[in-house]
Amino acid sequence: MNIYKEIYKTIKSYDSIVLARHVGADPDAMASCLALKQIILNTFPKKNVYAVGVSTSKFKYMGNLDKVTDEIIENSLVIILDTPDKKRVDIDNFDNYKYSIKIDHHPFVEKFCDLEYYDENASSTCEIILDMVFNTKLVLDKRSGELLFQGVISDTNRLTTINTSYKTFDLIHKLIKDTNIDFTNLYEQLYLRPLAEVRLQGYIAQNLIVTENGLGYIKLTDKIIKDFKVDSSSSGNMINNFNYIDDVIVWAFISEDVKNDIIKIAIRSRGPVINEIASKYNGGGHERASGARVKSFDEADKLIQELDNLCKRFRSETNENK
Ligand code: AMP
Repeated sequence: MNIYKEIYKTIKSYDSIVLARHVGADPDAMASCLALKQIILNTFPKKNVYAVGVSTSKFKYMGNLDKVTDEIIENSLVIILDTPDKKRVDIDNFDNYKYSIKIDHHPFVEKFCDLEYYDENASSTCEIILDMVFNTKLVLDKRSGELLFQGVISDTNRLTTINTSYKTFDLIHKLIKDTNIDFTNLYEQLYLRPLAEVRLQGYIAQNLIVTENGLGYIKLTDKIIKDFKVDSSSSGNMINNFNYIDDVIVWAFISEDVKNDIIKIAIRSRGPVINEIASKYNGGGHERASGARVKSFDEADKLIQELDNLCKRFRSETNENK
């Protein structure tokens, strides 16, 4: 059976469904959860559907999250979105659900759900949901369309990333045509940000260390983060804005998170594959967009060294091929 039909059939057979996504949610994770909740309710109004996970004020505009009891968990189907491995699912008591489905666009890490669909070539999890909706009896409405649009746009950095395909454009075209969403307004929700973050971006631009091999990086201590009145995730929010700098092929922002006693690293690339290195430092992600978590700045230095070597190899290989 076609996988979308199989997922549809499974959704149809459960009265209670919980939707979850990865920790440290981003717009694709959040939007895929909240949109699929709306889509299931459009199609099956009598079902109980819950979107769970830690909520952050940053994504309030997307909608509210739900809490579930042990009783709900034991009687529900759970659908895990945008998450390749069990340890990164933002959920309690995963093992107590009746049945589980994974829908994801990350490189495969592990099988942990009963039914899994992942497509590494899809630009985003929201793109997969759109494709599934257009190929089953699931019902899209304007609100779910708005959310899916935001998820695709955010994960593709406005339709610029390598996984953006003709299919992405086709699906977005059909989405706008069918739902008549006001997409210009949706960009404002996604990209509106505090002045403090813009000032931090200026600081990063001024102080980015760029190696001769084309690695750009910056270390943001807790003091710097506090001086700018931002938080440890702020630098990650702006990392995509540092694309297309001709001296930089890989860039990493290293932020101290004293509350969680951890150092968060966001990494992006215009060429070299970075997720293999990220996965050695308690991280992972896509070939050109990854993250990692380390315990100290010394450990971060080791990661930086590996990324620099990677840039060196990449440059010499691309020069050899010219
Ligand atoms: P971010 O820099 O947080 O936007 O993450 C970029 C990509 O890397 C996303 O697909 C994340 O899911 C993934 N990612 C970020 N941090 C980690 C981590 N610690 N472990 C595994 N994947 C991660």
